Amino acid sequence: MTIQGKVVTVTGASSGIGEATARHLASRGAVVVLGARRTDRLDRVVAEIEEDGGTAAAVPVDVTDPDDLKALTATAVDRFGRLDVLVGNAGITRIGPMADLDVAGWSAMVDVNVNGILHGIAAALPIFRRQGSGHLVTVVSTSGLKIVPTQAVYAGTKNAVRTFLEALRQESTDGVLRTTSISPGYVRTELIDNAVDDPAVREQARQHMADLGIDPSAVARAIGFAIDQPDDVEIGDLTIRPTRQG
Ligand code: NDP
Repeated sequence: MTIQGKVVTVTGASSGIGEATARHLASRGAVVVLGARRTDRLDRVVAEIEEDGGTAAAVPVDVTDPDDLKALTATAVDRFGRLDVLVGNAGITRIGPMADLDVAGWSAMVDVNVNGILHGIAAALPIFRRQGSGHLVTVVSTSGLKIVPTQAVYAGTKNAVRTFLEALRQESTDGVLRTTSISPGYVRTELIDNAVDDPAVREQARQHMADLGIDPSAVARAIGFAIDQPDDVEIGDLTIRPTRQG
């Protein structure tokens, strides 16, 4: 089975890459279950997908709460009969040197970017095992591949997730589970909006993103490519960045 008819849950589907992914997969015939905290935005995306003839549902999800991930995956199974793919996309970033001691920001990144993915894995794996198949897709980052100053903790969270998926892959050679880590470079989204407190630095970062970043639909298509493979083919790591990114 390729994308058509697959039941896919997407975390962080209220904006940016997650929203674009939900729209793209729905346009290709997947049933999509969207999770995030801003439910007004989720409802709007669901309504627009349905207007275009797609099938979608929204679930209020804070990925730092394991019960919310259970509710998200359970909605897929209860309403649509199964869960084929979990796209663990929800994430946040904070930019700044470690010497700034943004301890609250570090904790928030670990909570959302690392624990949020682990809660998703814990909710989805038993369903995948019961069904005999499933696919975990996570949105990590080129920040984890090319380490640069000011993104230490963010890069660390993304590399932690990459590590979980590689271990899971090696533990799952019975063919039940496929794992994919997508590493985007700069993408024009709202990610930067809460990344830094200083308005001047934030504006500079936003401008940089606007000048260099690619459209989130490009990442959505990459995720679609990974999901579209036949069951015996796994796209493990996929990097997608602006052609001009260094
Ligand atoms: P956005 O800020 O547009 O999207 C982030 C999404 O995560 C939102 O839908 C937000 O929804 C959700 N989110 C944040 N915190 C939580 C939470 N506690 N519970 C549930 N959902 C949450 O940015 P992007 O689309 O860029 O980010 C998506 C992913 O892509 C992130 O993991 C990011 O690290 C990664 N990425 C982005 C890059 C870029 O250049 N933009 C580059 C590389 C990776 P809500 O606030 O409604 O809960």
